[in-house]
Amino acid sequence: MQIEVISLFPEMFAALTEHGITSRARQRGLYQLNLINPREYTQDVHHTVDDRPYGGGPGMVMMAEPLAAAIKDAKASLQARGLTPTVIHLSPRGQPLTHEKVMALKDCEGLVLLASRYEGVDQRLLESLVDEEVSIGDYVLSGGELPAMVLLDAIIRQLPGALGDADSAQEDSFVNGLLDYPHYTRPEVFEGLAVPPVLLSGHHAKIRQWRLQQSLLLTRAKRPDLLAERQLTKEEARLLKD
Ligand code: SAM
Repeated sequence: MQIEVISLFPEMFAALTEHGITSRARQRGLYQLNLINPREYTQDVHHTVDDRPYGGGPGMVMMAEPLAAAIKDAKASLQARGLTPTVIHLSPRGQPLTHEKVMALKDCEGLVLLASRYEGVDQRLLESLVDEEVSIGDYVLSGGELPAMVLLDAIIRQLPGALGDADSAQEDSFVNGLLDYPHYTRPEVFEGLAVPPVLLSGHHAKIRQWRLQQSLLLTRAKRPDLLAERQLTKEEARLLKD
């Protein structure tokens, strides 16, 4: 996967490229990340990328022209490699990010992510060059860099080979429409709380069943909306009743 990110603060993306799973995945060549600063596409000495909003009001708006030039360059570089680009603007007005959305985006060959600042970007840029808008939640951050990194981290962990067996995403929350089960490690007793005996039994079938039951119970308690959307198997229905 080739990823082009347009941001006024490209150095922030070191959080993704220099640490942990997303760094290792990059070293293994599972994705390439190219950072583009829209100031490089300005014509004036001050490298201006924002201006006052038409109609007045608070804040500044990112101008369409430098962003358009940056997006066109990013798309051209993907197309030159035979990759089909998908252009996404991170925005609180976008479609909420979900596991399903992540799984759909992980199959994109080329992503262009626009991380904006200020009050947002000129609407005409969105209408002419952006394919979709994605939100990471119903709150407003100061810029699109953290949302872009949230989106990229979630996608990169799903790329084949990004996770070793030890980090396997197969039982993560949402993968199977359920929340993850509780995890325990040494010591056997902590603050008077013992590890559930079944986990010490060595009985793999019983451990699998206990974990599935815990996932179901936790999901029912914390996210009943997920259970409502899910067709339960006979075993799952029985475990929820037990
Ligand atoms: N005026 C905008 C609004 O109310 O929708 C918020 C602008 S915000 C201060 C600046 C930028 O941060 C946005 O254009 C977007 O790129 C990013 N951003 C902020 N919150 C976000 C969220 N929840 N999801 C995705 N991007 C977000």
